[in-house]
Amino acid sequence: MSAPGYREVLRRGRGRHRRRRRAPLKTVAAVSALVTCSALAATAVDGDDQPECPPHTGGARDGNGACASAARSAASPAGKAGRRADGSDGMHPDPDGGRPRAPAPPADPDEAAPYDRERCGNTSGRVLLSLDDWPYNDPERSVRIGARLQAQGIRAAFFLIGKFAAQYPNITATLRQQGHWVGNHSYSHQRLTALGDQELRDEIRGGVPGNLLRPPYGEAGEREQEVAADLGYRICNWTIDTHDWEKVGGSARSVEAIRESVRGATPEEKHNGVILGHLFSNFPDALEGIVSDLKAQGYRMCRNTGPVGDQVPMPLQC
Ligand SMILES: [Zn+2]
Repeated sequence: MSAPGYREVLRRGRGRHRRRRRAPLKTVAAVSALVTCSALAATAVDGDDQPECPPHTGGARDGNGACASAARSAASPAGKAGRRADGSDGMHPDPDGGRPRAPAPPADPDEAAPYDRERCGNTSGRVLLSLDDWPYNDPERSVRIGARLQAQGIRAAFFLIGKFAAQYPNITATLRQQGHWVGNHSYSHQRLTALGDQELRDEIRGGVPGNLLRPPYGEAGEREQEVAADLGYRICNWTIDTHDWEKVGGSARSVEAIRESVRGATPEEKHNGVILGHLFSNFPDALEGIVSDLKAQGYRMCRNTGPVGDQVPMPLQC
């Protein structure tokens, strides 16, 4: 393979995508009091019965179904006027397609805080698909994948390597127009923990602008997390690594093996979960099966509610 990222993946080998110890951001505490209402509202929109708003909001909902004051003040820059509390406009398809599904677990106020970087702040109960790096020999693959997911009413998160994304600015713009979040995966996919302070800042600054940073290899310690926060980013890792980047017997990991890595993951990894796959692997071709399996198991996918900006609302509403 001529792709630098892929080569690097192979060279560094197994275990490099291991999950990291949780280290919640301190900065989140300030907004945690606002989180409960919008998290509750987000879980309610695809059902007819909305949970009651928490007491501090007075229990009232506005015309958009949002809990009164708290949801309003918790709205992020991406939350435009006229949208519902979860960022949806209520007009786009639900990826569940009206199928029967397992009952949503009761909203737990503890889920609202603190920020869980392995879940990218996902408290929706739904599953977020994420696709990393770059489709080296076929840049347009990203937007074809994006279009397929959009057609199914699914919102995914793409973490593109900055130096490639910069060469094809229309790809980031198109993905966001398709309703997908596009996050920062550094400028050149170096191991951030191995960089000096200035290089670290440059790597983050050279990435796709936004407010979520997926550090290459998922590796970010206290220093990296603090610098990221200083530049306006939260760390966003994953709960399920499909190991799609791994070679098995000299070949790329198969669609079926990738699919099984999600199907066999634990409920805790799936509920509020984030799935890691890559744009250069067989992961995109496994998506149809992965989504089908998750739905059959009673899980719901993050909903695509239309075009998004560069800021991902927190708590992550999907
Ligand atoms: Zn990567």
